[in-house]
Amino acid sequence: MVLVREHIKVVLKSGKDQSVRRFHPWIFSGAIKKVYGRPAEGDLVSVFDNKDELLATGHYQGGSIAVRILAFGEGGLPEDFYEIRLREAWELRRKLGLADNEETDVFRWVCAEGDGLPGLIIDYYGGTVVLQAHSLGMHRNIELIRNAILKIAGDRIDTVYNKSEGSLPLVSGIENRSEFLLGNLNERCVKEHSYRFKVNWVEGQKTGFFIDQRENRSLVSRWAKSRKVLNLFGYTGGFSVYALGGGASEVHTVDSSVRAVELANENVALNFQDDRRHKALAADAFRFLDETAESYDLIILDPPAFAKHQNVLGNALQGYKRLNQKALGKILPGGILFTFSCSQAVSKENFRKSLFVAAANAGRRVRILYQLSQPADHPVSIFHPEGEYLKGLVLEVQ
Ligand code: SAH
Repeated sequence: MVLVREHIKVVLKSGKDQSVRRFHPWIFSGAIKKVYGRPAEGDLVSVFDNKDELLATGHYQGGSIAVRILAFGEGGLPEDFYEIRLREAWELRRKLGLADNEETDVFRWVCAEGDGLPGLIIDYYGGTVVLQAHSLGMHRNIELIRNAILKIAGDRIDTVYNKSEGSLPLVSGIENRSEFLLGNLNERCVKEHSYRFKVNWVEGQKTGFFIDQRENRSLVSRWAKSRKVLNLFGYTGGFSVYALGGGASEVHTVDSSVRAVELANENVALNFQDDRRHKALAADAFRFLDETAESYDLIILDPPAFAKHQNVLGNALQGYKRLNQKALGKILPGGILFTFSCSQAVSKENFRKSLFVAAANAGRRVRILYQLSQPADHPVSIFHPEGEYLKGLVLEVQ
């Protein structure tokens, strides 16, 4: 049996089949010639070229991305579709050494398009699974997804939390609350490279922790020895913990959220008790850089996405330029800047250009030491470059 029941047919305009044949997982509304039948939001539909060749099966949604493709080629979806895909994704994490790791029990189990499941994020936190549906199709299939999670990892998890509140477009009219699908635990202590972190998926941002910075945090610890470090936009204090672990002489964490500052302090205490080298401050990062009299050997800039959409790209690039220019002014000669952008709309090239302008305006000589991205549990389909959202540069500043 297949999951496609009524055969709702989406036919593409001539020439618009090319990107589907190259495994790009999105069909934009402008590529559609005709829709046969009346698909409801989140329905499974079959996608045909204009010569009636079946190309793909996917979730339909009114909006700019009209179909999110789940399977290419003929044949619809098997009944155990989610179980198959989740197992494949788990297998990759096992190969990566993440699924059974003594030192790290936090990883991204499913990374949307990168794992052939557009609209779905699943994170694993040492016995808790947190999932997020970003499309109506995934939202409607939560029960199937939950069952697949339990089938694959049921023996090692006690909590499944659906954190999808606010992740669907308002126009959908669907009220999606966050809720427990198994157990009722709000938080737990997890390990990343043997450092301990308290993660609260109910109150925390995103699914509770920024797993995508794992490898970049390690690199910070390698550069931190005897350095005075500033961690701006610190949130859980992830980078701060690694900097302290790497032997930093001092670490200052700044975040505009009072709760984040408390959390950073708690996580530092979990790993280093009352370490006098660490201070955390609730402040706006821009204002902090304007007002502080301190200079630093190493600064980390990991702001929230400045551009959520392509149409605000110009403002976002201006924001990155301004922020980085200010930070460069606070770096001692020979110091290091770790700077990131997690905006999907900002390309690697554009981000680098904004750093070029920031460095030129700051009048500093700057060399690129590393170009960073997201770790392997956030894989990117080569046909879907949009999936590569995290960009980072490590700069040496004279
Ligand atoms: N570096 C973190 C993730 C940062 S998320 C990590 O590794 O986990 C972005 C953080 O920036 C959030 O905690 C948010 O509260 C904070 N933030 C947003 N705007 C800010 C501003 N103008 N000044 C300081 N912090 C800000």
